[in-house]
Amino acid sequence: MNLIALPAFSDNYIWMLHDDANAVVVDPGDAAPVEAALEQRGLRLAGILVTHHHADHVGGVDRLRSRLDGPVWGPAREAIPAPFVALQDGALIEVLGRRFQVIDVPGHTAGHIAYFELGAPRAPLLFCGDTLFSAGCGRLFEGTPAQMAASLARLTALPGDTRVCCTHEYTLSNLRFAQAVEPDNLAVQGHTARCMTIRSTGEPTLPSTLALELEINPFLRCSEPAVAAAALAQGADSTQPVAVLAALREWKNRFR
Ligand code: ZN
Ligand code: FE
Repeated sequence: MNLIALPAFSDNYIWMLHDDANAVVVDPGDAAPVEAALEQRGLRLAGILVTHHHADHVGGVDRLRSRLDGPVWGPAREAIPAPFVALQDGALIEVLGRRFQVIDVPGHTAGHIAYFELGAPRAPLLFCGDTLFSAGCGRLFEGTPAQMAASLARLTALPGDTRVCCTHEYTLSNLRFAQAVEPDNLAVQGHTARCMTIRSTGEPTLPSTLALELEINPFLRCSEPAVAAAALAQGADSTQPVAVLAALREWKNRFR
């Protein structure tokens, strides 16, 4: 099975999974890069997975329907282009012969879902949309810090070798923020150097892994004393993890 990140807009990725005959794509905000990839490789489009309703994730769905031979799957609690198979937490779907489980991850949007590959012997796939980014998390447009904290906790309970397929190339700017939060975190420094090299060739810094994210992502490190202390200095009400996450998110929103 092949996994490709198709660049779209300025910093989106449309993930494509294919077996050299059939392909599925995740969050096609734009149809053009998907059409080009299908044609270049001679692939049939066998399904579309959607994580949440934002235009940069669903904008290409309707145009792709003309060549789609399979379902559009999406979150039951969001208005995405109909018709689609509405998925609730815990739902199981079969995608190119692999099974994926739906995980509710409210926070960025109210009905945001993620797709986790079940039964993979190693390195299962996680399509997490705009919930978890490498070294960051999504903005809280429709959810609370407590919801985002709970959603991130559900994701970090997955295996450490899980491949984290986020939908934006925000890694370097997130790492700059991570460095401001934890100036002494050597994993952040090491990964920053690696990602600078990767980006200088134009390659994606993704997928990441959950094990790496636990070391470098401040939003997954709210219980670390250094992270809590940094959040307190930025106005957190307490060192409770949810209060720390709330303060980090506010800080990140104004961080340049
Ligand atoms: Zn979004
Ligand atoms: Fe997005």
